[in-house]
Amino acid sequence: MIVTKSGEVLREVIIVGAGPAGIVAAIAARRQGLQAAVLDARNPPIDKPCGEGILPQGVAALESLGISLPLEDAFAFRGIRFVDEEHSARADFAGPTGFSVRRVKLHQLLVNHATEAGVEFRWGTRVTQIDQEAVTTAKEKLSYRWLIGADGQNSQVRKWAGLDPRKIRRKRFGFCSHFQVTPWSDVAEVHWASGCQIFITPMAGQEVGVAVLSRDPALRLECALPQFPALAKKLRGALQTTREFGDTTSLRILPAVAQKRMALIGDASGTVDAVTGHGLSLSFQQAIALAEAMKRDDLAHYQHAHKKISAVPITMTRLMLLMSGSDWIRRRTIRLFQKTPGLFARMLAIHAETRPLSSVGVAEIAGFGWKFLSA
Ligand SMILES: Cc1cc2nc3c(=O)[nH]c(=O)nc-3n(C[C@H](O)[C@H](O)[C@H](O)COP(=O)(O)OP(=O)(O)OC[C@H]3O[C@@H](n4cnc5c(N)ncnc54)[C@H](O)[C@@H]3O)c2cc1C
Repeated sequence: MIVTKSGEVLREVIIVGAGPAGIVAAIAARRQGLQAAVLDARNPPIDKPCGEGILPQGVAALESLGISLPLEDAFAFRGIRFVDEEHSARADFAGPTGFSVRRVKLHQLLVNHATEAGVEFRWGTRVTQIDQEAVTTAKEKLSYRWLIGADGQNSQVRKWAGLDPRKIRRKRFGFCSHFQVTPWSDVAEVHWASGCQIFITPMAGQEVGVAVLSRDPALRLECALPQFPALAKKLRGALQTTREFGDTTSLRILPAVAQKRMALIGDASGTVDAVTGHGLSLSFQQAIALAEAMKRDDLAHYQHAHKKISAVPITMTRLMLLMSGSDWIRRRTIRLFQKTPGLFARMLAIHAETRPLSSVGVAEIAGFGWKFLSA
């Protein structure tokens, strides 16, 4: 905290929202020598509907901030499997694995790290308004030098700042639950059927996470499972350990994520569809870029970095939503991936950012098109 000449208390960084994005942004700010205070309307540990898989680039971002996921709570998954009625294709990450961890465990871990790093938390504190200098809560006004909106996909900070996008594209619904069953695979699985996917995340503690994704707000696991008989067999008789709860998911791209001394991060700064599993990794990468930008006193640096970080997840959302929207495309793609595992591995390397998107040349696209049509 800085006390100005007029006696006013000025916090260097105020973050609205103590979800994963807000807390990791606070830890990254502390590592740049900035003081940080985080306000959240809720109390910890905070849960949220989520597939709970963190891609390798997200794990690497956490590690670069000194945060390791404890092996007793996290499951290292080696890659992804796509499964539909007829075909199944698996690709492994070329480098380090991804990790899955229950949201409440992740939240507690991040809170502990942040507290140790000297982050100030205000729990049960809803921000009701912001202006150019301060945020307002029910009890007080807190002045800031930098304000970060990390208040999730329905961000009020974004709205107050006038940064809302004109439209949200391809809104879908995700419902998540957990089952007590030994994970049957060391990869995360996306089971595809007409207009609907079930995402299976192997978890630590003899558990799997199950997320049903579709455009139908009423579609729950019980109604979706008959479309996935092999999966239904695996879950039959398993104890459901958490009640099913859901949220919306969409492709939301913002023209700007920063202005003056204010920036957005995590879902507040735009979203990709949950089926990509990119949300948490995006938040952690953005947190590092934002802390660097604040240290340099240059939010344009963050705006630029944010665009770069989001490019692959946005492209992957578009491709996976094409598969979701057309049974013909989806069947051909999974059949092609099964026939050509190397191709699926190259796509996964782009997804996990071990291979740059820019390395895909015209010849490779043409080759893919040809194989796709003849699959
Ligand atoms: C069904 C589903 C499955 C998903 N699966 C995955 C997955 O497998 N892997 C992955 O990486 N991502 C996944 N995601 C995305 C991931 O959940 C999000 O990207 C991530 O939670 C974003 O974190 P956040 O901190 O930005 O927002 P949130 O986690 O939503 O946190 C926002 C916080 O802000 C607080 N807040 C809001 N308004 C105020 C206010 N006015 N004052 C104070 N506090 C406020 C809230 O209480 C909340 O704690 C999934 C999403 C869905 C919907």
